[in-house]
Amino acid sequence: MGKKMLVIGESREGVLRNVTFEAIAAAKQISSDGEVVGILCGEGDLTEQGNEMVYYGADRVITVSDEKLKTYTSEGYGQAVKAVIEDESPEGIVMGHTAVGKDLTPKLASKLETGLISDVTEVSSEGGNIIFTRPIYSGKAFEKKIITEGLIFATIRPNNIASLERDESRSGEVTTKDVDIADLRPIIKDIIRKGSECVDLSESKVIVAGGRGVKSAEGFEPLEELADVLGGAIGASRGACDAGYCDYSLQIGQTGKVVTPDLYIAAGISGAIQHLAGMSNSKVIVAINKDPEANIFNVADYGIVGDLFEVVPKLKEEMLKVKV
Ligand code: FAD
Repeated sequence: MGKKMLVIGESREGVLRNVTFEAIAAAKQISSDGEVVGILCGEGDLTEQGNEMVYYGADRVITVSDEKLKTYTSEGYGQAVKAVIEDESPEGIVMGHTAVGKDLTPKLASKLETGLISDVTEVSSEGGNIIFTRPIYSGKAFEKKIITEGLIFATIRPNNIASLERDESRSGEVTTKDVDIADLRPIIKDIIRKGSECVDLSESKVIVAGGRGVKSAEGFEPLEELADVLGGAIGASRGACDAGYCDYSLQIGQTGKVVTPDLYIAAGISGAIQHLAGMSNSKVIVAINKDPEANIFNVADYGIVGDLFEVVPKLKEEMLKVKV
């Protein structure tokens, strides 16, 4: 018999994040024909977002709307989600391994007195068991886990599990649940966005990252132009952030963001182990470095030995030709 799964949806400024749809796909695989129920927290009418979850495969969606849920706090969302979990008694819960997911799910797991498999990159089944694959040792190895009893609780890494095709002919009920959210201790008065992150780094399919080799803030401009042509986001090594060439919100690596885009272009990055920890699982890695011995070439699928200020504009020109 199929398992009943809950998917905690996540939106930013009223738009659902792609990882929500990927979480639905993962939940469907785990449920094997059981029911997949979405949960959405926020303020105002969340029906449209609820419908979006249905179009991506949720069988029904429960929304919890309250002015205290306008912006994310683990306390507010924790109360809302826990109330829905208690009502629904699911056999499993899935959420994106995003900043919000990383904050909310361990707290929820502890409240529910259950375990959590975090940062899952693949869900498969073998001999009746669901197998969760996740990176360990900063992405140098992968472990496979199965849950033999109790609640299945997992966060999935963005960009790794394909979502289902959006299909408006899918139908499912979107209902509202009233939850009495107790007064919150943290009060968010304002959100100040850092950096120019037009495209979300962790969900971007293409990332053009610069290192200390870009030499200045202006040195990022050719990278930004290439990223624009490719519809990608800009990332950076800590070397570039430390040098003040860009904001720390762009840092990729062990102490920055972990990304797995389809294409990662590393320009002027040496490939320190701490940087590789954040990007080595990218699907295709292109490295541009003037030092043929640079460590980044050891993880690159394509390496270009040369000056990034010559190579990157040429790449942009070639990409523009392909785009036309
Ligand atoms: P460098 O190592 O200085 O490399 C610059 C590269 O640019 C060189 O390979 C050079 O050949 C090349 N270059 C120069 N000019 C050109 C040009 N014109 N064209 C082409 N190539 C050129 N680092 C991270 O990135 N992310 C992290 O999360 C992170 N966390 C860390 C955590 C800890 C605890 C510690 C100790 C370190 C961490 N670091 C992290 C730092 C890491 O060890 C490296 O120092 C850093 O990644 C180096 O950045 P870089 O490759 O840009 O600079």
